[in-house]
Amino acid sequence: MSPVDELPPLRDVIRRHGLMAKKSLGQNFLLDLNLTARIARAAGPLEGVTVIEVGPGPGGLTRALLALGARRVIAVERDDRAIAALGEIAAHYPGRLEVIAGDALNFDPRPYLDGGPARVVANLPYNIATALLTGWLTAEPWPPWYDSLVLMFQREVAERIVAPPGSKTYGRLSVLTGWRAESRILFDIAPSAFVPPPKVTSSLLRIVPRAAPLPCQRRALERVTEAAFGQRRKMLRQSLKSLGVDSAALLAEAGLEPTARAEEIPVEGFVALARALAAKHEQGR
Ligand code: SAM
Repeated sequence: MSPVDELPPLRDVIRRHGLMAKKSLGQNFLLDLNLTARIARAAGPLEGVTVIEVGPGPGGLTRALLALGARRVIAVERDDRAIAALGEIAAHYPGRLEVIAGDALNFDPRPYLDGGPARVVANLPYNIATALLTGWLTAEPWPPWYDSLVLMFQREVAERIVAPPGSKTYGRLSVLTGWRAESRILFDIAPSAFVPPPKVTSSLLRIVPRAAPLPCQRRALERVTEAAFGQRRKMLRQSLKSLGVDSAALLAEAGLEPTARAEEIPVEGFVALARALAAKHEQGR
């Protein structure tokens, strides 16, 4: 008997639908419904919430989300073999699961939302995880359409996302995330929990958007972090020269030491640099 519903065990589902994992699609399935229920619980109370799930695969997490009360799950899956398997879950929960056959990288969930709370919960395909996160963090308008993102990443990527200034893993992704959101690692999941097991440990991350991030132009922020972390061992007065502006003047305007290095600068420092850069471009027009 399944711990979350009366549907068949996931191993049966995989066998019946020929859903052997494909590496090219980043497929590492979670077959333990106790574990998928733990992930769904970590996403907070789900009553009244529309969940967007990327890559439901055979549906272990989807089933947990529905069993724990998500009002609706909109699940985007690129593997056609999984669509029929997911149809069985949709039939078990009439009107609550909508399966979209397509590429999550091109998927805009907004037409599927109805004004109630929306949340992304996913065991992401690792090959496109950072691209998806960047898309969600750069959503416009801000605050975004979701109230939180609860996502599984490779541990090493999760550490880069939550890294504070001064740490070795602090980089562009940490700044972008820290600018627009608060993030933390909830717990780790061992490779042995997945079929097939990946080479690395995974981490579940919770990312909550800030209502009012420090004002600055996103493109300018991306340009300064790209320049600064592109040569992370160099002093900023050197690395920021690639922006094609007077780097010493830019740093002075931002109130930063010209001898500082990228990994020492907190998010507010990068925001100040982005504002100074945008102002220079305005003046140059
Ligand atoms: N949620 C399932 C679980 O936890 O067992 C599967 C997770 S598996 C790590 C990633 C899933 O994402 C696979 O089902 C894969 O087919 C799907 N996927 C890969 N690339 C995708 C894309 N571009 N758009 C939508 N789904 C994708």
